[in-house]
Amino acid sequence: MRHNELMKRTETRSVRVGDLIIGGNNNVIIQSMCSHPTKNVEEVVKQILELEAQGCQLIRVSCMDMEDAAAIREIRNQIHIPLVADIHFDYRLALAAIENGADKIRLNPGNIGGRKNVEAIVAACRTHGVPIRIGINSGSLEKDIHEKYGKPTAEGMVESARRHVQILEDCGFYDTVLSFKSSDPLLCIDAYRLAARTFDYPLHLGVTEAGTELTSAIKSSLALGTLMLDGIGNTIRISVNGDAQKEIPIARELLKDCGLLHNVPNLIACPSCGRTQWNMEPVVDEIAEYLQTVNKDVNVAIMGCAVNGPGEAKHADIAIAGGREEGLLIKKGRIIEKIPVDQMTQRLKEEIDAFVPGASQE
Ligand code: SF4
Repeated sequence: MRHNELMKRTETRSVRVGDLIIGGNNNVIIQSMCSHPTKNVEEVVKQILELEAQGCQLIRVSCMDMEDAAAIREIRNQIHIPLVADIHFDYRLALAAIENGADKIRLNPGNIGGRKNVEAIVAACRTHGVPIRIGINSGSLEKDIHEKYGKPTAEGMVESARRHVQILEDCGFYDTVLSFKSSDPLLCIDAYRLAARTFDYPLHLGVTEAGTELTSAIKSSLALGTLMLDGIGNTIRISVNGDAQKEIPIARELLKDCGLLHNVPNLIACPSCGRTQWNMEPVVDEIAEYLQTVNKDVNVAIMGCAVNGPGEAKHADIAIAGGREEGLLIKKGRIIEKIPVDQMTQRLKEEIDAFVPGASQE
């Protein structure tokens, strides 16, 4: 049983973004951000389609100028997931992005030049059914808040959010999502926990500037995993330097291990040791990559020896326990056949393809 049945999700408002609902009792949504300039439409669309195929459900693009804002219409017409426009300071870009079909905007209403500009954006958001994400980053807190707390703190981040939220609430606008990002995973945990007690708006989780695939996977798993096990979080982004395609497999793996995403395979592989008499690492790597293309609940185990392997793999749906020249194919703890080592990868792939979750595997 991999489902986290004991976890109770924190109740929030729900906010519609295109055909998705963020918050309420809905599933946690995987988000990513394009790593190309938005005006390079062809490149951006190609990347979004690849991210969609990996399991990305919501995509953010930066909106630096009117050319970017105009590109949103063309991009929107060629993709299948809702699109978020990221705006800094210039409210006219927000209006243009909304006009061109952005499903959500990311903008801090305290930074766009006063009440009149906010009212213009709120009016456009209402007309087009577009929500706003307010993004608080620990590194860019208002000067007075920073001085009050002496350093970035959870209290300071929530105080900053309260100001921005108040501006929208004064306009009667409540279709808001909040984020509280820091590169420090422990500060993220504190800030989101405090935010979940303070606001009833949905929360977008992320550790920002999290670095490489390795450092981001660790920091994000620590912060987002802890929060999601608390029942906190409605969308997530794993921020990795470089190609956005690195983000989605980590997000899916994390959600699966938190019991929040189903139809995702689970790979079990022993570390190998002095008992291993075959070259198992390439097989593990190739099967791990193959499983990223599979959308079903299947537990696959690859074990290094035929001594301990069968026992340790007995709860897997499909397992291999390798030996010097051949390995044992095991299904649900039952040894089915012996397979030559050089055919293991292919046979495992065939078994994974043929596996039907819930069906008898005789
Ligand atoms: Fe070593 Fe066998 Fe355990 Fe793998 S399953 S770590 S090879 S004893």
